[in-house]
Amino acid sequence: MPTLYHPDILHVAGAGLPGAALLVGDDGTVVRTVAAEELGRVAGQARLVRLPQQALLPAIANVHSHAFQRLFRGRAEGRRAGGDTFWTWREQMYRAAAFADPEQMYAIARAVYLEMLQAGTALVGEFHYVHRDRDGRRYSDPNALAEAVIAAAQSLGMRITLLRSAYFRAGFGLEPHPGQQRFYEQPEEYLAHLDALASAHAGDALVQVGAAPHSIRAVPLAEFAPIADWTRSHGRPMHLHISEQPAENAACLREYGATPVTLLDGAGLLDGATTLVHAIHITEEEMARVAAAGATICSCPTTERNLGDGIFPADWAARHGVRIAFGSDSQAQIHPFEDARQLEYHLRLRDGERGVLDGSVREGWKQREPIGQALLAAMTRNGYRSLGVAGGALEAGQPADFFTLRLDDLALLGTGAADLAEQVVFSASPAAVDAVYVQGRPLLEQGRHPEADAIHAAYRAVQREFLQG
Ligand SMILES: [Zn+2]
Repeated sequence: MPTLYHPDILHVAGAGLPGAALLVGDDGTVVRTVAAEELGRVAGQARLVRLPQQALLPAIANVHSHAFQRLFRGRAEGRRAGGDTFWTWREQMYRAAAFADPEQMYAIARAVYLEMLQAGTALVGEFHYVHRDRDGRRYSDPNALAEAVIAAAQSLGMRITLLRSAYFRAGFGLEPHPGQQRFYEQPEEYLAHLDALASAHAGDALVQVGAAPHSIRAVPLAEFAPIADWTRSHGRPMHLHISEQPAENAACLREYGATPVTLLDGAGLLDGATTLVHAIHITEEEMARVAAAGATICSCPTTERNLGDGIFPADWAARHGVRIAFGSDSQAQIHPFEDARQLEYHLRLRDGERGVLDGSVREGWKQREPIGQALLAAMTRNGYRSLGVAGGALEAGQPADFFTLRLDDLALLGTGAADLAEQVVFSASPAAVDAVYVQGRPLLEQGRHPEADAIHAAYRAVQREFLQG
């Protein structure tokens, strides 16, 4: 018997529908939206789940995560003598990357993903680049750490796209860096390990595997093509860091005579399955090239402001019709609503204007949606697409992946159907999240996960070991 979820406000297909309900089949797939006036008739043929004082929305996708970076949250914020930059933060990151064994990685990822789940997230894209043991040797299973991360998501019932990262060198003209010894693999062994990981999860409905050439700094241009070929022949997503820092652009210019987006697009390596992470220091001409290639850009506004990376030109993306998705990246904060609103707020501070990303009033923009709808779609629909997973909009035939928000949460009192998207994007916090469902199955109810206490205890133990180590 199908299930009829009946919140106060249902948000599907870019609109808040008061009194409507979502009909979900036994296989966890959306059958259709049921309008308020049809409810009486349909309710008799379905199991009714009433969700009073709640709004139901498509589940959120966190497109760019490095779970282990949670270990030094709030511990790299001060200033060091000589100034503090992205590159000094990176030394802290190497210390954390040198630490975790597979068991500890599992405990860290479980805590990080639980925090995401409690923020309404059903799907995480883990950009995973720690492959070797603490001494730089290959584990007997070269995917041991990737498997630990996947197992963490599976233990919570969440979806994961494991973006297995290629990391072949320190950078143009640089010697291998000791902080990166757990990342390095040879190009041939990388592809073999990627292939093995994808094969191992071919039958898992909630696990996707993609490729992630770390950056043009870590993967020379000649090594990009075989990775892109693999993603194309297997129909998988490809993610890479790009133009996060001006120094990265400068090194690329020195090596190849072009900046990274121009270089990779010129080599035919960008397409609709590509997601560029950050893309802050690019030109508008490069943004047009990203649009023509059909690639997505994953913005990580909380991390980017934390690291002092710069402001992502999201208005150019909207003008040219580039899809944007979001990631929590360094885990400085896991707050998808905050990421979405910061994308707009950074532009307001830059321009001294408001409503910068409101495409509904912009002549000549490809992105024509009102601001709340556009940002909500970036959190949901665009994220699912970027991670190679069907869904994200609760349309008929899509998986019933959704979350609910308590409308009696103090921050959301008075929220209505017409303005739901804006109120959620600009005012909601994870504290208002009540339930998260994946494929029609509840993972979180009344804001609580049944294993939360055990997950907290295991994380605290690992955190202690890291600080003592
Ligand atoms: Zn990253």
